[in-house]
Amino acid sequence: MAKPRILILYTGGTIGMIEDPVTRSLRPFDFAHLIDNVPKIKMLDYAIEHIQFDPPIDSSDMTPLNWADIAVQIEKHYHEFDGFVVLHGTDTMAYTASALSFMLRGLDKPVIITGSQLPIGEVRTDGEENLITALQMAAAVDPVDNRPMIREVAILFENYLWRGNRSTKKSANNFNAFKSYNYPELARIGLGIHYNHDALLRPVGNTPLKALTRMETSVMFIDLFPGLTEATLRHQLSAPGIKGIVLRTYGAGNGPTAQWFYDAIRQAVERGIVIVNVTQCVNGGVHARRYYAGNRLTSAGVLNGRDMTSEAAITKLMHLFGQGLTPQQVASQFGRNICGEVTSTGLPEE
Ligand code: ASP
Repeated sequence: MAKPRILILYTGGTIGMIEDPVTRSLRPFDFAHLIDNVPKIKMLDYAIEHIQFDPPIDSSDMTPLNWADIAVQIEKHYHEFDGFVVLHGTDTMAYTASALSFMLRGLDKPVIITGSQLPIGEVRTDGEENLITALQMAAAVDPVDNRPMIREVAILFENYLWRGNRSTKKSANNFNAFKSYNYPELARIGLGIHYNHDALLRPVGNTPLKALTRMETSVMFIDLFPGLTEATLRHQLSAPGIKGIVLRTYGAGNGPTAQWFYDAIRQAVERGIVIVNVTQCVNGGVHARRYYAGNRLTSAGVLNGRDMTSEAAITKLMHLFGQGLTPQQVASQFGRNICGEVTSTGLPEE
């Protein structure tokens, strides 16, 4: 049996950080330091290579160009490796995971993203275990067909493997920092690794991998809150060049029923802005016709984001516009399930 070949892409994040002697703040450091702190890696007997961001970054600095860099490296080395591990800061990990899931069209190998809450050099670090488990998952083979067990972009953190485009950072303190509230775990990690076979994405067809890296950044979130004024909303809706908005609404997708609110949203849609409705709740989704307050948004031309995370919704807008689609085409494709980011059947009414 040949050794599994794994490519690690080190982008930065707490996992590889050290304390700056002057400021006492954590800042990213190089891969050699990181790997020196994980001597156990040799026990895996894998053929591991790495590429590092130069310089490695705090994931708060991540941009769509960085996502494109990661996707291009995976595309370039796709046939040389069995799996890919992306080391990344936790702050924007769910955005990167969502973006990569849309960019890596035709992916049928594992892309496991992980990081840690404590730097790898600290005695109680979670980084060592996360890295080792991520490598094991990137190398795992399904005994049924001898193909990779994971064939999608996933986030590994502490006890769980989650679908990347369903994940959200839920804790700034806990080792279990991520969760997918609307989709079951892909695997549970305890004494052993238990894959949730029914939940794993099995791409259909044989399209070769293609990195679709163009992202349109003229998108934004608008968060509803009681007290939002017409002036503020109109100001947000008239941001120069804006093409797509993720409107973060209450509960089952509800917003104010006031006429000024309806008019402002309706006029923005008529100007060609694609607005999608995603709930501020972490669990559940938009049931647009359940309440009058949600139905009004639908009549104003707002699209149903169903049970998508905010991270998936905003990166999906970036991706669809990035492919050169018109607002009408983006609107008609937004609800389509591209790679497991949205539940397309079995939800309550649109
Ligand atoms: N600020 C860090 C980052 O996202 C936090 C982390 O890695 O946990 O890069």
